[in-house]
Amino acid sequence: LINQDHSNLGRSTSEYQALDAAHHIHPFSDTAALNTHGSRVIVRGEGLYLYDSDGHKIFDAMSGLWCVNIGYGRRELADAAYQQMLELPFYNTFFKTTHPPVVELSSLLAQISPDGFNHVFYTNSGSEGNDTIIRMVRHYWATLGQPKKKTIISRINGYHGSTIGGASLGGMHYMHEQGDLPIPGIAHIEQPWWFANGGELSPKEYGLKAARALEDKILELGVENVAAFIGEPVQGAGGIIIPPSTYWPEIQRICDHYGILLIADEVICGFGRTGSWFGSEHYGIRPHLMTIAKGLSSGYIPIGGVLIHDKVANVLIAGGDFNHGFTYSGHPVACAVAVANIHILQNEKIIERMNQDVAPYAAQLWHDAFDAHPLVDDVRSLGFFFAVTLVEDKASRKRFSNGSEMALRCRDICLKNKLIMRATGDSMIAAPPLIMSRAQAAEFVALALKCVDEYAREIGR
Ligand code: PMP
Repeated sequence: LINQDHSNLGRSTSEYQALDAAHHIHPFSDTAALNTHGSRVIVRGEGLYLYDSDGHKIFDAMSGLWCVNIGYGRRELADAAYQQMLELPFYNTFFKTTHPPVVELSSLLAQISPDGFNHVFYTNSGSEGNDTIIRMVRHYWATLGQPKKKTIISRINGYHGSTIGGASLGGMHYMHEQGDLPIPGIAHIEQPWWFANGGELSPKEYGLKAARALEDKILELGVENVAAFIGEPVQGAGGIIIPPSTYWPEIQRICDHYGILLIADEVICGFGRTGSWFGSEHYGIRPHLMTIAKGLSSGYIPIGGVLIHDKVANVLIAGGDFNHGFTYSGHPVACAVAVANIHILQNEKIIERMNQDVAPYAAQLWHDAFDAHPLVDDVRSLGFFFAVTLVEDKASRKRFSNGSEMALRCRDICLKNKLIMRATGDSMIAAPPLIMSRAQAAEFVALALKCVDEYAREIGR
């Protein structure tokens, strides 16, 4: 099933690029700019490594798009998909019907998720999961006789997807600018990034201040109008923003005090990224709903969903029809692949090994490499999240006025050195597969340092 040839499967790189340019509009891309250079053509993956159509081996320190938690090339997932396609490639879960893979996955998710989470609603993606949540929380409050409770509070630079609902929940201004977003009933507060917003406050003081922006917003909107708060335990696409330790406990207190629902978007954090199965467990918070996708199938097949706490599930179950769902909600092949993926995470103790051994080791290497580096600051890591922010002057914490341009230059140097990291604003970020070994962690950090040093030389420092 898995092609062992390190080169492409037929066409030359330039043929792929020409056809791609002629017929493919890429997501989140400036197509004209992309087409002048041509896309990279990735043809194969194995473990942490990708191979391009010219046979180059590339260290994928982004796990694809934060999703390939178990690494590339696991035959068990291919076999699970193959068997399920032969057995039952599709049937829906509407109309009083279920099937074995969706039953297996649902009970497995209930087993691995925190106490009180016993139900799941399936989608194809994280975006659809968050759109589902918008409809679900409004339906929840309406069922409880409080239909005015509609507004969901989220955060600047949060990322919750690219559908109209997901992009509205998200706090990316460059997304809102296109297509009249956000939709009504969504409000944003600041992101808990001490380095950028903390000023003279200590991280702990700032964590409380950033959380209390939620309380201020609830009072401004009127608690009778507020349905929920949503946040990623660690903001991913917003730049790997690891909140101060005081932040989530205070958010929990505020949600409890005002009786609003707490939603954890676990699309990136879920399935081990923070070192716990869910980011909510790492921070000790008790959400009512959790969005999942990505690591649920390690990206091998599209599947997402919403994990639903009993408090909400019981209301939904008693509340009659929930008029929502997708043709592919609980798709049998996707469910079979997700089950195989979770079994690998469990049986090989991938999250435990990473949390107890490789993550602390890699964090030490990361800090040793970058803490004293004159061109970066806010050196941060948690589990298998790693980031630094590029700075113009470290002593005065001065950031570049054209920080995203600088980070893109650094990102391109990484690509030239066959390392995939991502540039977000003025930060360089990484989230490698959870199977990374100690030796590979050392390879990753050495490569990242080499690239930042090369970037420093290129800008004349
Ligand atoms: N939520 C978070 C936290 C995400 O990082 C993403 C994707 N990067 C999404 C939602 C959207 O997921 P998808 O791209 O599968 O729609």
